[in-house]
Formats: sequence, structure tokens, C-alpha cells
Amino acid sequence: MSNPIQSVRGMNDCLPDAADTWQAFEAIVRDWLRRYGYREIRTPILEHTGLFKRAIGEVTDIVEKEMYTFVDELNGESLTLRPEGTASSVRAVIQHNLLYDGGKRLWYTGPMFRHERPQKGRYRQFHQVGVEALGFAGPDTDAELIVMCADLWRELGIAPTLQLNTLGDHAARQRHRARLIAHYEAHRDVLDADAQRRLHSNPLRILDSKNPAMQAINDAAPKLMDELEDEALAHFDAVQQRLHASGIAYEINPRLVRGLDYYNRTVFEWVTDQLGAQGTVCAGGRYDGLIAQLGGKPAPAAGFAMGIERLLALVDAGGRALETAAPDAYVVHAGAAAEAYAWQVAAVLRGAGLAAILHCGGGSFKAQMKKADASRARYAVIIGDDEAAAQQVTLKPLRGTGEQTRVELALAIDYLNNATT
Ligand code: ATP
Ligand code: MG
Repeated sequence: MSNPIQSVRGMNDCLPDAADTWQAFEAIVRDWLRRYGYREIRTPILEHTGLFKRAIGEVTDIVEKEMYTFVDELNGESLTLRPEGTASSVRAVIQHNLLYDGGKRLWYTGPMFRHERPQKGRYRQFHQVGVEALGFAGPDTDAELIVMCADLWRELGIAPTLQLNTLGDHAARQRHRARLIAHYEAHRDVLDADAQRRLHSNPLRILDSKNPAMQAINDAAPKLMDELEDEALAHFDAVQQRLHASGIAYEINPRLVRGLDYYNRTVFEWVTDQLGAQGTVCAGGRYDGLIAQLGGKPAPAAGFAMGIERLLALVDAGGRALETAAPDAYVVHAGAAAEAYAWQVAAVLRGAGLAAILHCGGGSFKAQMKKADASRARYAVIIGDDEAAAQQVTLKPLRGTGEQTRVELALAIDYLNNATT
């Protein structure tokens, strides 16, 4: 029996210190998305299981073995904790006819659930920020998605590298698929169990195999690039031109096929070698068929999703220090009159936008100062009966070398706003 007073394996608590970092990251991300004109969409964490089967595809790692699926005992429906955000976003867009007046730029964030083997950078509850540009067909959109990622990396002080590929369109993929099956059938003896199983259902995914024994046969496999039609090639060229113009370096990786079935044309991943095996921090591409596949009026689409845990690990390994806000003041007080005034002081400080912790629970001055120190606050705001009578406060810097000083309350606000200690 597992211990019920332990979090579920692969699902982590985010304690206050970490949550400070997450909030700093989220603030940067929200502002970045705002500047690109993206708007947030929030969808439920539970969806009908059929949504993910139809969107992601039956023969994918996610649907085959990673989904948290259960029967709602109250009505017998099969439900699934979302393993990713695109299916739900597209479902909501169709359900609410959001594309009726043209394309939409949407983003989402939140927990995703996949029953994988937990390890560094791979969890059963993890978090993504994702972006969907729905209703836009052109290569300009694909390129902008990539450029905007690069912009965020700059801001976070990290430098993952870009891998790029094109999957072409349906007909080219069908031709390639037939050739792949022929290739793998001719080498049946070296196929591993996964490959055997996928040979007819999803041979493209065999190329994605991480099994070293499959390396040679995958290297010799027919290339999708050789099947691509002019239109898809022109689209890919146009994406690359814009990347050149924006000064974004990339590597074309013909083996990049993405784990999900719904991609076509442009696909990309941002990868790093700083995180061990879990090196993909962001992945995306175009998925023009998905909206129609889910029953919507056909419309093109492209997007990406980034893994927040992996990104934060990369930032931690040498990116920008994500500032975490310590409280400005910890208000200590001794005596009944002082306490009444301390309440006023705290209210005034908060009204001025400062973070003020009011000491609660009484205790000696010394004990209160200990709490003030432990609170990480920049200043102790000390109030005795004297200060209360004079409507003043004593400010004691808790970090740095500043001097203790006694000032009018109004001046204290300036002090706390400007002080850098
Ligand atoms: P992987 O090959 O690592 O399993 P994936 O192709 O399944 O990744 P996507 O479905 O494309 O991943 O998800 C986008 C991003 O979300 C990934 O690039 C990664 O950063 C993050 N991610 C995916 N699965 C997990 C997980 N189990 N734990 C933490 N982050 C994850
Ligand atoms: Mg995966």
C-alpha cells in the first residue's frame, strides 16, 4: 500500500521558495505573450477520453500508455486528465466557434498528466506553456512562433538550439509511408518490438526510436524530404528565409517527426545538452488537419508547447536570476497602543503597494525581531508606545549596513520604496 500522506509518485509539490521562482517566470511569460498579441484560454483539466484519441492519435506513446484515464462512476463516462493542451484548446475553439471572424492567437498554461517513468525532467504531473495560432496558413506564422521563442530565451538568459524539419503534406506523407513500410519490411529481422507493432499503424514513428539497435536501419530509411511537393518545399523555404532575416540559427533534422500525429509541414524543437536525456524544452509546429479532424470547419493551425520544469532547470543552470520578491517590511510592536497603531501602519504601507507582514501572536520584542529576521523582510518597522504617540515609526534595516532611523509614517513609505537594502 502506498502512503497516503505522500504525494503521488511523479507529482511534485511546489513549495513557497520554488513558487516564488515560478511566479517570476510566469510574470515574464505573460508579459512576453501580451507583447506578441496572444490571449489566454483556460480549459478544464478533464476531457472526454475520445478527444485525445482523436486528436493525438491511437498509435502514439501518449494514447497507448501515458494517459490517466478512468471511468466516472457516477455516469459511466470515460474521462482523461489532459496530457497536453492543444486538443482541449482546439476543442474549445470549435465548440465556441471562435474562428468565425478570423484567426486567433491563443495561449494556455497549467498542469498536464502523463503516466511515464519519473526521472529528472520527466514527471507524471508537469506544466506547460503553450501557444496556438489558429486560422493562419502562412510560413510567416511558423517563423514568428519560432522567433518569439528565441525572444523568450534571450529574456531568460538561456540558449537552447533549434532543430527544424518539414513533414510536408498528406499525399507526400502517404507516399513516404508506403516506402517506409517497404523498407522496414525488407529488414524485419532487426526491428524491435515497438517497431514491429508500429510497422503498419504508424511507421513514421519508428524513425523517432531512441533504441540504438534501430539506428542503422533508421539512417538508411527513405527520406520524406525526397517526396515533398513544391508547395510544401516553398513553405519551408519561406520559413527559413524569415529565420535567416531574424538571425536565428538552426539545424535541419530530417529525423525530427514529433511524437504526436497531428503535425504537418513545419516542425521544430528547441533542445539543450545541459539537462541530460530530457533535453527538449519546447516543441511545436504546424497542424493544419487537426481542426477538421476534430469536426471543426477546416482551418490551418500552428503552435508549440514548452515544459516549464525543464525550462526552469535550464534557467537555473546558468540563465537569468529569476527575482523573487521578499516582503518590504515586518511590523513589530510592543504594548496595546503600539499594536493599534501597528495595524494602521501596516494598512498604510499596504495601501502604498508595499508588502508588510504584521507581527501576530504577541511575544517579547526580541522574539518578534527574530521573526522579522526570518521573514526575509528588508526592514523591521518597529513601533513602541513612543512611536505610536508621535505617529512615527522606527525603521531597522534587516539586511545590508544601513542605520536604524525614526521617521514620520509618510516618509517611511518613501524610505521603503527607495531603499535598496
Ligand atoms: P519527450 O520526447 O521528452 O517525451 P514529448 O515529445 O512527449 O517529449 P511534447 O508532447 O511535445 O513532449 O510536450 C512538449 C514539452 O513538454 C516537451 O518538450 C517537454 O519540455 C515537456 N514535457 C513533455 N512530457 C513531459 C514530462 N513527462 N515531464 C516534464 N516535461 C515534459
Ligand atoms: Mg513523451
